[in-house]
Amino acid sequence: EAFNANVAAASQLNAFIVTTPEKALEAADKVDADRAAGKPLGKMAGVPIGMKDLFASKGVQTTAASHILEGFKPEYESTVSQKLWDAGAGMLGKLNLDQFAMGSSNETSYFGNVISPWRRNDGGNAALAPGGSSGGSSAAVAARLCPAATGTDTGGSIRQPAAFTGISGIKPTYGRCSRWGIVAFASSLDQAGPMARDVTDCAIMLESMAGFDPKDSTSLDMPVPEWSKALDANLKGKKVGIPREYRMDGTDEEILKSWDDGIAWLKDAGAEVVDVSLPHTKYALPTYYIVAPAEASSNLARYDGVRYGLRELPDGANLQDMYAATRAAGFGDEVKRRILIGTYVLSAGFYDAYYTQAQKVRTLIARDFEKAWAQCDVILAPTTPTAAFPLGDKVDDPLAMYLNDVFSVPASLAGLPAMSVPAAINADGLPLGLQIIGKAFDEQGVLNAGLAIE
Ligand code: GLN
Repeated sequence: EAFNANVAAASQLNAFIVTTPEKALEAADKVDADRAAGKPLGKMAGVPIGMKDLFASKGVQTTAASHILEGFKPEYESTVSQKLWDAGAGMLGKLNLDQFAMGSSNETSYFGNVISPWRRNDGGNAALAPGGSSGGSSAAVAARLCPAATGTDTGGSIRQPAAFTGISGIKPTYGRCSRWGIVAFASSLDQAGPMARDVTDCAIMLESMAGFDPKDSTSLDMPVPEWSKALDANLKGKKVGIPREYRMDGTDEEILKSWDDGIAWLKDAGAEVVDVSLPHTKYALPTYYIVAPAEASSNLARYDGVRYGLRELPDGANLQDMYAATRAAGFGDEVKRRILIGTYVLSAGFYDAYYTQAQKVRTLIARDFEKAWAQCDVILAPTTPTAAFPLGDKVDDPLAMYLNDVFSVPASLAGLPAMSVPAAINADGLPLGLQIIGKAFDEQGVLNAGLAIE
C-alpha cells in the first residue's frame, strides 16, 4: 500500500505509463495467505516491482511507449515477468521507456519523457534525463517508488540509465533471460535484466528472471546459479583488465577520475589490475547503429494496423494506404529513423557494404574480448562518457545521443554480461556509474566486482 501511494504521489516524474495497484496488493495478500498456510515463499515474495512497458502483461496495456501499440492488451504474459510473479513479486505498474527501447534519454516515448528525480546542486532547476531506454525503471528505483524494476538492454539501456540515476543494473549474458513476450527491438542483442538499489538485490532478482525457455530459440539451456549466495567482494586472485581504448576523447574528466578510483578500490579488494587492449572498440558504435536498426526494421514490420493496437483508415483507403497511414501516425521520429537506416543497410545494393561488413566487425569485437580474457577475469570501464544531461539537450542531435552509448555497445555486440554500479557523486551532485564487463556466463564475477565497488 505504501508503495502504491508513493507511485501515485510521484506522478510528476512520469515514470509509469499505467499503474496496477491491485496487482501489487494481490501479491502481498498471496504472501500473507501462503505464510499462514505454511507454504514456502518465493525469492521475490511480496516485493512490489515496476515492469518496463516492453514486457507483455496479460490483460494490461503494453505499448513499448509507442502510439502504434496504444490500447494493445496482450493475451499472454512474457516469460520473464511470469517467472517474477511465480517467485512472488507483484506489479506496481508498467514503466515508461524510449519508444521501442530506441533512445538514451527517454525522450522518444509517445507518453512524454520521464524526469530524473536527481537535481544538480547548483540551484539550477533544469530537469535531467533519467537515461534510456529504461528511463522509467531507473527513475522509479532511484526515487524509491519501487525496490526494483525490470529493464532491457540492447545497447546499454539497463546500464546507462542506472549510471545516470545512481542505481545498479545488470545485463546478463545474451540468452540468460528469455526474450519471449518482450517487444523485440534487435533480437540478436536484446536482453532483460534487473535494475535495483544494489548489487545484492540485482543478484536475487536475476535468479528469478533467468532460465531456459523452449519458447525462445536463443535461450541458454544452462542451470541458473544462486548468484546471491556466492556474492564475495574479496577479489584476491582475480585480474581486472583496464581497456586502453576506452580512454577516449569526449569523456569527461570526472568520469576518468572515478574510473581511477574504481581501479584503486578493486586493488584494495585484492584484485590485480592489468592493462588490456580491445583494438576494435572504435568500430563498436557504427557497427551497433547498423546491426540494431537492421534487425529493428525487420522486427517492426509486424506493426501494420492489422494485428495490434492502432489502425488508421482514411476515407476510401485500400490496404496499402491503411498500412502507410497507420505506420506514419503510429511510429515516432526516432523509430522511423531506425527503420529507414535499417531498410537502407539491408537493401540489395548496400547489404554487403554495410550489413555484411558490420557482422564481420561484430565478430572482431567479440574476438577482442576473447583475447582479453587470456589476461583478465573482468574488465572495468566507465558506463557513460558524461553524467546525466538536461532533458532537451540532445533531442535534436541523434548523433550526439548515439555517442552516449560508446562504452555500453561493445559488450552488447559480444553478448557478454555487463553491469553498472554507482561509483561517485560529481561536483554538481550527480551520480556517476562504473561498468564491469565479464566473460560469457560469468555473471558471478561481474556481480562480485560490482560488490567491491559499491
Ligand atoms: N541507446 C541505444 C539505442 O538507442 C540502446 C538502447 C537499448 O539498449 N535498448 O539503440
